[in-house]
Amino acid sequence: MTKKIAILPGDGIGPEIMAEAVKVIHCLRDEYGFDVELETAAVGGAAYDASGDPLPESTLKVCHAADAILLGAVGGPQYESLPRELRPEKGLLGLRANFGLFANLRPAILYPELAAASSLKAELVSGLDLLIIRELTGGIYFGEPRGIEESGNGMKTGINTMRYSESEVERIARVAFEAAQKRNKRLCSVDKANVLEVSELWREVVEHVAQDYPDVELSHMYVDNAAMQLVAKPKQFDVIVTGNLFGDILSDIAAMLTGSIGMLPSASLAATGKGMYEPVHGSAPDIAGKGVANPLATILSLAMLLRYSFDLTELANRLERAVGKILQQGFRSADIASSGESVSGTAEIGNAVIDALQS
Ligand code: NAD
Repeated sequence: MTKKIAILPGDGIGPEIMAEAVKVIHCLRDEYGFDVELETAAVGGAAYDASGDPLPESTLKVCHAADAILLGAVGGPQYESLPRELRPEKGLLGLRANFGLFANLRPAILYPELAAASSLKAELVSGLDLLIIRELTGGIYFGEPRGIEESGNGMKTGINTMRYSESEVERIARVAFEAAQKRNKRLCSVDKANVLEVSELWREVVEHVAQDYPDVELSHMYVDNAAMQLVAKPKQFDVIVTGNLFGDILSDIAAMLTGSIGMLPSASLAATGKGMYEPVHGSAPDIAGKGVANPLATILSLAMLLRYSFDLTELANRLERAVGKILQQGFRSADIASSGESVSGTAEIGNAVIDALQS
């Protein structure tokens, strides 16, 4: 059956990097029989400029009709003085809320050729390939009660509440076990069960869900230790699953291990199977329109889309291998080039991936 992908280029470098991803999709269609239909819609600042709304009804309609969403990036300095509800970021948050995208998947992969870009020693990170799965719609960022209260004596108290229900933990745990099954079958659940009751319940539910995935080896780690281990011995991990707050921090640590934001894809998945895929980086207004942005994070997000929304594992692997191959061949955009290496533009990198797919 024809798969439908909503293409949302967004702002800044979004349209440039998305143009390369679309070229790659066309290549997968022509060379490998990927039966796909694309529909493009505006989001973020581009949508605000066109219609006064960062997430117009027409865009939501396109996304509802699609099986998966591929997004570039949103935002830009020209929108920063707008009221919060009209800012580009509202488009992203609106998409997450509309589709119940509760599971955020962020791989941190360090291709051996780029080991010098990491802040850690090459031998610690070369070949790193881990996946962090963060619960995205619950936990302390959304828990009630919240607010700042003023008590009688003029002293203020800030309040946030970390809460997770069994069903919230169970559904993110299932995503994690299933992702681990598609990789090296090792899952580390990160919590703070020595201090927090919410983590105690988290651990209990994850243990329970584990019974359905006997082929996956489960371990648990406290979040403070996980932060240390990520920096000390990052290659010990395959898949990490954790709550919203811990995942926010750990996924940024993992991103830094790879040293190159232009290489990092992400996926946000809903219980319905719908997913939104986007590079981790933003709209990079400083380089927008110059044709120098690295399109590989978006192309790798497309590989995740093939794997997680369409179960096209072989095609996803093929695309990831093509990216590995062009790095071996020496193609480098400015953000990942070491001094002395020759630098390729956005379209040249996209074309190289297509050549690698065709060879
Ligand atoms: P950014 O990720 O856009 O840029 C940070 C730095 O990395 C910049 O120097 C940029 O040139 C570089 N960079 C980013 N992506 C690159 C790529 N593909 N190739 C080469 N270099 C790249 O973060 P920022 O500057 O803090 O934010 C810029 C705008 O993006 C802001 O409006 C912010 O709100 C927005 N933003 C959007 C998202 C999103 O759409 N998911 C995420 C983060 C930031």
